[in-house]
Amino acid sequence: MNEDLEDVDIKRIAELLHTNEQRITGLFKRRTLHRTPAGHLILDRSVSQIEGGTAIFPWEKYEVVWGFPKIHRAMMLQPALLSHFTTERVAVEEKMNGYNTRVATINNRIVALTRGGHICPYTTEKAESLLPEKIFTDHPEWVLCGEMVGPDNPYVPKETYGIESLQFFLFDIREKKTGKPLTIRERRENAEKYGMQTTKLFGIYPLGVACKKIKEIIQMLGTSGREGVVIKDPEMQDPPLKYTSSQSNCNDLKYAFTYYHDYARSFFYSRVMREAFQSVEWKEGPAEIEARSAQLGENILKPMIQSIKKVQSGERLVENVKIRVKSIQTAEKFKKHLRTLGIDATFNKPVKIKDEYLIEIQKINQRTTDKTESILHGHTHS
Ligand code: ATP
Ligand code: MG
Repeated sequence: MNEDLEDVDIKRIAELLHTNEQRITGLFKRRTLHRTPAGHLILDRSVSQIEGGTAIFPWEKYEVVWGFPKIHRAMMLQPALLSHFTTERVAVEEKMNGYNTRVATINNRIVALTRGGHICPYTTEKAESLLPEKIFTDHPEWVLCGEMVGPDNPYVPKETYGIESLQFFLFDIREKKTGKPLTIRERRENAEKYGMQTTKLFGIYPLGVACKKIKEIIQMLGTSGREGVVIKDPEMQDPPLKYTSSQSNCNDLKYAFTYYHDYARSFFYSRVMREAFQSVEWKEGPAEIEARSAQLGENILKPMIQSIKKVQSGERLVENVKIRVKSIQTAEKFKKHLRTLGIDATFNKPVKIKDEYLIEIQKINQRTTDKTESILHGHTHS
């Protein structure tokens, strides 16, 4: 018997996930559904009708927080918009570059979940101070979905937005149990009512002109290093689509090629594809194609060359991130959390700044360091 199965109520879980007990037992056996060190259960990947990252809390009253659905990407914007949306108008929102966070109350406590469904102790501490408690007492059935953005960010640190530390930008309010979203208007009204920041709405456009508008928005965002847009049905019936700037694609590549052996090849491939389709859709001439090619090549080759040289001079490849916490205990819990995720990291001594502690963290990219070292020592590549 799988130990994850002990003392959990399979029948109750099956009810919560709208499926049968046999199916739940099967998911446990394959470890697609498993228990975290925090004691709750998470679904590792989507299985028909149940979103990956769905979290079940088998405490007193069993509760579920539905996983955040994957957002498909438009590659060729105009035809994708026309074939995807059944509505006459679409809302165009800024896609912010941080990390996905779902915040809900479980047993009267605020918990912040990562995309995969883990409780992140750091994000939970931040959510407690950044989000108004009243929204949770008024609406215990809601989950607030948003992007955590800013430099004090252990997953996706960004200076781009002029944020001092870390901020939460609400992009969805969903029903905990089902994942069903509120409309854009309802979400924005509630954000206003409770005094929360929400992702920027550029406008709601007729489908016919949306493509042209999005191109302008994307180019404007790109020049300041911002990521792109999420295009949504204002009623949130049709699922959203995402579309990103060339600069953001290149930034992703630069980052991923720095740690080239720690990233999956599909990550690189899809980003190169985006560049090619964008160039064709925007009917670029020879000079623009030349510039785009140079950008792409530089963001692939330069970071790799730099990494190889670093390893050659005896350095390890690390990624420097930082967190800012009120309690040292949160940092200790966060250390354990990174270990659970299989991330190897060293924490510097905390530095007290006002009533908080700033802690620098080095995330160690061992795979790329090892691979580079072995090639530098003469290993051949198959
Ligand atoms: P996905 O599985 O959703 O494609 P991904 O890791 O590939 O995930 P991204 O390419 O960053 O993610 O795109 C989707 C993510 O964008 C969402 O999960 C969310 O965290 C983030 N996001 C930022 N701004 C918005 C917004 N305005 N509306 C919806 N999502 C947003
Ligand atoms: Mg993202």
